[in-house]
Amino acid sequence: MKKLFLVILIITTPFLAAQNNTTYWQQHVDYTMDVDVDAKNYQYKGTQQLVYTNNSPDVLNKVFYHLYYNAFQPGSEMDLRLQSIIDPDKRMVTNIGSRDNPIYESRIAKLKPNEIGYLKVLSLQQNGIDVSFETEGTVLEVKLNKAIQPGEKVTFNMSFEGQVPVMIRRAGRNSEDNVALSMAQWYPKMAEYDFEGWHADAYIAREFHGVWGNFDVTLHIDKNYVVGGTGYLQNPQEIGHGYEDKTKPLTIKKGKKLSWHFIAPNVHDFTWAADPNFKHDVLKTKSGTTLHFLYKNNKKYLEAWKEVQPLTEKALDYFNENIGQYPWKQYSVIQGGDGGMEYAMCTLIAGGETLRSIVGTVFHELAHAWFQHALATNESKHSWMDEGFTSYISTLASSKILKNKGDEPSSSSYRSYFYLVNAEIEEPLTTHADRFHTNFAFSTGSYTKGSMFLTQLNYIIGKENVKKILKKYFQEFKFKHPTPNDFKRVAEKESGIQLDWYLNEWIETAHTIDYAVADVEGSTITLARVGQMPMPIDVTVTYTDETIEKFNIPLKMMRGEKPTKATKLKDWAWANPLYTFSTSKEIKKVEIDDSGLMADIERSNNIFIVN
Ligand SMILES: [Zn+2]
Repeated sequence: MKKLFLVILIITTPFLAAQNNTTYWQQHVDYTMDVDVDAKNYQYKGTQQLVYTNNSPDVLNKVFYHLYYNAFQPGSEMDLRLQSIIDPDKRMVTNIGSRDNPIYESRIAKLKPNEIGYLKVLSLQQNGIDVSFETEGTVLEVKLNKAIQPGEKVTFNMSFEGQVPVMIRRAGRNSEDNVALSMAQWYPKMAEYDFEGWHADAYIAREFHGVWGNFDVTLHIDKNYVVGGTGYLQNPQEIGHGYEDKTKPLTIKKGKKLSWHFIAPNVHDFTWAADPNFKHDVLKTKSGTTLHFLYKNNKKYLEAWKEVQPLTEKALDYFNENIGQYPWKQYSVIQGGDGGMEYAMCTLIAGGETLRSIVGTVFHELAHAWFQHALATNESKHSWMDEGFTSYISTLASSKILKNKGDEPSSSSYRSYFYLVNAEIEEPLTTHADRFHTNFAFSTGSYTKGSMFLTQLNYIIGKENVKKILKKYFQEFKFKHPTPNDFKRVAEKESGIQLDWYLNEWIETAHTIDYAVADVEGSTITLARVGQMPMPIDVTVTYTDETIEKFNIPLKMMRGEKPTKATKLKDWAWANPLYTFSTSKEIKKVEIDDSGLMADIERSNNIFIVN
């Protein structure tokens, strides 16, 4: 009997273990860091206590930390990639050739020991006992003394030291605008473990994925430095620098340094910047969010950085209304970094000699507070979801706030996608962000084709549905790690239209759309699907009596159709390359998709004029 039971157990166990994990879970981190900054030598030393909660159903024998600053060293993976990619980021290379015949040299390869970035872990304990760890480039691999059980909380205590690299990309010392410290990806950061396993990606160039949690960070830095970043300052009266309550006295302590104490709840990153010559403006918005602006007190930036402030509030209002209420109490726009980059509760933005040169970037980075910092998709795997959705909504905000053109999504941004297709270097958007063959295919894919995912969705399911879906998506998935399928399911449930085909074709393949009016005979129209990718079709017919009739042909796979005033025709099954229908009157002209929102790569065959 006992034996038989054992046999049954052996047979059934593998089946039990192989069950799909269909319930959502996410890991949790609570960081407490105390960091002493040597601003003059661009170095810092710190301690980190990390309480890590394993909410996964798995036993963890190892954990991994990111040590991003190690990327800025000669011979790093970032350096090697920079030397082999055919279109390197211009900020990261020096052209030692000519303008017509450029020869790019990696700036990382030329860094001297006092210019490189590093993050060194000096000691690490798990629940008070030393653990062995190994640094491999930008990743720290930790073999645990005792495995972490499902549901268990453990405490890691670490001491570390770092050096701020010369500004190569995003973070570093003395930016182009001469901001002293742009501190992004600066601390040993636990890698994310989710339903797909570990995401301990080496830092090669691009995107991030972090663990949700709370940060308590104290920075000790020279008194004259003004700090801005993630988190609410807990001791403003001890700091001043524009953070203080002006109705109360300052209580600044004696000594060379100030200790800035920040708390950031429910974020997956902590970033800051500091400069001895920052101007700091505070704008309390009507919606309740406090906006901070920190920028160089330099004549050439003052005007634009003032002008952008009320516009930032307008953009905040636009996103609050069209996605959902900004979920933190504070957001800071900080001069620093290179270009613009989104971080938790803040952004680092370079430049600003004119309003035009920064306002679009400010809107874009602010929109990322929703599409990355509240809806934390794994950017490395689905860069189109944060960059694409951000580009979509910030373009709408720009056209509303800056040009007052209304809220119609625009097809004018399709040009660079068509260029990518014609250059025949497009890669499916399921490609890992680091491993696109070219920067061009990565950026046009993620930003342009990613935003077209939504613009085109207006064409497929109707713009009222898209508006509802964005709000529902935010409501359901804020403070989580949504996947492409999560968004698709929200869209399906809200619209009643099936969209698996759309996610597959547009994101997981490089298929293209080309529909044509094949023939018009009398009152009979024949349409053809020339490209591989199927779509529902809108047709505008002009009759010989100059009246116009609009038709809508749903795609059979949609099992539904968008709300429309057009004459609804029978479904088009994708396997059929041709589709024929008849009109009631004599035809003069037929046009497929006069909105231009369908990304048809060959529009010349979309119009048929009867001679
Ligand atoms: Zn972006």
